[in-house]
Amino acid sequence: MSDNQAQTSVYDLIIIGGGPAGLTAGIYGGRAGLKTVIMEQGIPGGQAAQTEKIENFPGFPEGIDGPELSMKMYEQATRFGAEFTNASVESVDLEATPKVIRAYGETYLARAVIIATGAKPRRLNVPGEEEYSGRGVSYCATCDGAFFKGEDLVVVGGGDSAVEEALFLTHYAKSVTIVHRRDELRAQKVLQDRASANPKVNFIWNSVIEKIDGDDKGVRRCLIRNVVNGEKGEIPCGGVFIYAGTAPATEFLPASIARSQDRYIVTNENLETSVAGVFAAGDCRAKPVRQVANAVGEGAVAAIMVEKYLAR
Ligand code: NAP
Repeated sequence: MSDNQAQTSVYDLIIIGGGPAGLTAGIYGGRAGLKTVIMEQGIPGGQAAQTEKIENFPGFPEGIDGPELSMKMYEQATRFGAEFTNASVESVDLEATPKVIRAYGETYLARAVIIATGAKPRRLNVPGEEEYSGRGVSYCATCDGAFFKGEDLVVVGGGDSAVEEALFLTHYAKSVTIVHRRDELRAQKVLQDRASANPKVNFIWNSVIEKIDGDDKGVRRCLIRNVVNGEKGEIPCGGVFIYAGTAPATEFLPASIARSQDRYIVTNENLETSVAGVFAAGDCRAKPVRQVANAVGEGAVAAIMVEKYLAR
């Protein structure tokens, strides 16, 4: 889209973020005849597109590959007329009329906005993490797992992502050691059982990574500390996959959009934020459960509420 086009056309709905929530909002917005654009900085699907297999999304009894599900949602949204643009939002003026979104030097105008920017991996902030990022430190097993054939790997975290991705890594790795800071996992029981039954998966409990160390070829070891007895140790490994939770991608938002202490967007049950005409859906929203299934539900609700808002 040229600068001029972006400036002059006012969208009914701009959706920031093209994960499951944003794409579903696109399906509903497009199908309702709203002039809709989805702005996404990466490929369609967000975190879901980086998940090897999604087993708990209804309608796919054998599970479905995350990238495939994402592309199906994308095709459905664009089939109903939603535009999809590759753009990273730099700044917004959400209280203006119309609302203003700036991305890649272009200005987009909209009558209503849905924020569906999701969440991104939280960093451990330990020495070596940044230095070896892309050279053995990864936040995406689906993207990078195949580079680690026959290696001993470390996975950090005890949630669904850590356990699910550790299991995925066993397709390639010689062994996968899950290092968790407590003595019990947060992950769903079905995943815990699978990990316990997998001979390639080991656990180190009550421990945190203190340093990731290596050489010019990449990661060689993790230095760990037991948080109960203070004992220090070392795990030789060729790669470290970090799944220490997520942080919402909400930095570009103004203070007028109310957020929780951990920066997730606060909405009411109609998914309205603290600014009129601005809605939020999916993992960027303050809520207790983050699943693809509830992200798509919220995308649908947000778009229907936008329709009602615009009709008022
Ligand atoms: P999460 O549920 O927040 O788990 C993060 C894990 O990292 C926790 O075990 C936490 O330990 C640990 N952790 C946090 N900070 C740490 C640090 N500084 N050092 C070491 N460990 C640290 O995050 P997630 O697993 O990425 O999942 C995010 C959301 O997506 C969740 O709602 C999850 O249910 C959902 N999800 C669902 C599926 C599925 O249904 N198949 C798959 C993936 C993700 P503590 O346990 O001690 O807090």
